Amino acid sequence: MTSVYSELYQWIDGQKLSGNGRETSAVINPFNGAVLGQMPHATAADLQAALESSERAFKVWRKVPAWDRSAIILKATALIRERINLFAETLTLEVGKPLAEAQMEMGLTIDSMIWAGEEAKRIYGRTVEARAPNGRAIISREPVGPVAAFAPWNVPALLTGRKIAAALAAGCSMIIKPSEETPATALLIAQAFADAGLPAGVLNVVLGDPAFISHTLISSPIIKKVSFTGPTPVGKQLAALAAQQVTPVTMELGGHAPVIVCDDADIDTVLAYSVPNKYFNAGASCIAPTRFYVQDAVYDDFVARFTKAASEITVGDGMDSSVSMGPLANERRLTAMETLIADAVAHGGKITTGGKRIGDQGFLFEPTVLVDVPEDARIMNDEPFGPVAIISRFSTLEDAIEKANRLPFGLAAYAFTGSASRSALLADSLESGMVGINTYSFGMPEAPFGGVKQSGYGSENGVEGIDAYLVTKFANYG
Ligand code: NAD
Repeated sequence: MTSVYSELYQWIDGQKLSGNGRETSAVINPFNGAVLGQMPHATAADLQAALESSERAFKVWRKVPAWDRSAIILKATALIRERINLFAETLTLEVGKPLAEAQMEMGLTIDSMIWAGEEAKRIYGRTVEARAPNGRAIISREPVGPVAAFAPWNVPALLTGRKIAAALAAGCSMIIKPSEETPATALLIAQAFADAGLPAGVLNVVLGDPAFISHTLISSPIIKKVSFTGPTPVGKQLAALAAQQVTPVTMELGGHAPVIVCDDADIDTVLAYSVPNKYFNAGASCIAPTRFYVQDAVYDDFVARFTKAASEITVGDGMDSSVSMGPLANERRLTAMETLIADAVAHGGKITTGGKRIGDQGFLFEPTVLVDVPEDARIMNDEPFGPVAIISRFSTLEDAIEKANRLPFGLAAYAFTGSASRSALLADSLESGMVGINTYSFGMPEAPFGGVKQSGYGSENGVEGIDAYLVTKFANYG
């Protein structure tokens, strides 16, 4: 067992619960397959205790003044910053990402939590003219209630931290289930909140079987809001479950981001941005650039230089500072890469670099580039969520926009052009919750992050991210 890896437990009502006959499963280091720790699974009694605790704590936390809620969130964030190396090493152990990327994720996590903590002070209602002579008509914003949240394994600190901070800023309590592959990061965040003085039960962390936990929590009348980040098929199931209780949901689901590279773009800059963004986190990002549509005149040069840069990426142990891409995070991604690439080749696609697993321990995979892949190959339709760039050629902008918008996803889309009028046309035409023009950057907690179509609904970050945890009340005084 690796010494830096934390103890794993259920964190319910300020108590660490483990052992006592609870089922366990191993958490694996994806670089070498070593067992990092044993994760205890929540029992039905644990989940009931978490629900009751969350309901009790909500009644207390919603009455805590906004400035005091803010102070606790900011104190927890300061503690996370003090402990940043422990967080970063834990992320590298659980997900495999290089330490530099783990540090970057922690920077984004801290920024998002600070933003949400500060926003607690800026939750405003309004008054409208009353109809009665001495009346008052007041519209106020109130916390929705106890929240059930579900976070994925790819960016586990950011996607856990920003859910928690926004819900707590709004005055909600939260039960969060991290992915079974990355439980330690969420527990470290919960520890920081406990050390910052958060009352017991405002934040509970439950671990274990995802379907059992989500079904139990979402079906409970105690839960008043669901926030999920993860695969679209799971999102559909959870949204259907939430609909039985008419519980509002925020869904941040899969993507399949197109990148349109026009012939008037600065290709040196496009390549300098595109290659690191493609292979960041071994491609396991819902906003990763995936389908590159490159205009005729610059296509051959783009493919040759992209291929060369991808082939020069150093793949290995995220703990090694010379490594710029770690392993895939789990065996499912390995199977998915092998299956999707074989299918693309069977459809006539060509591999210009990569395409294979590296070694036979852990889940290392070569940075891969595919060309000439027809639109009906699976990889052009199913999100690869791995280190594969697919580069296709286009002639007219209308054709590129049509191909970019073809899929039922719309989370992130990108375009590179030197023309102001093309920039405006692309920003307006791409069907996506987020559009990057000459950039891949969406890492701004002050701006909303979310998708359209089957990439989900609702936003995190921005004022919209706090709004997701509030309901509106109209009080009319006659
Ligand atoms: P998967 O289908 O194996 O699902 C595993 C993940 O979903 C785990 O985190 C698990 O805890 C959760 N999950 C599964 N069933 C659940 C249930 N019934 N209730 C609650 N949670 C449940 O997918 P995968 O291999 O982990 O990921 C592949 C796909 O997931 C990608 O293609 C991508 O679209 C999507 N994904 C998206 C994000 C994102 O940030 N939007 C993050 C991770 C994964």
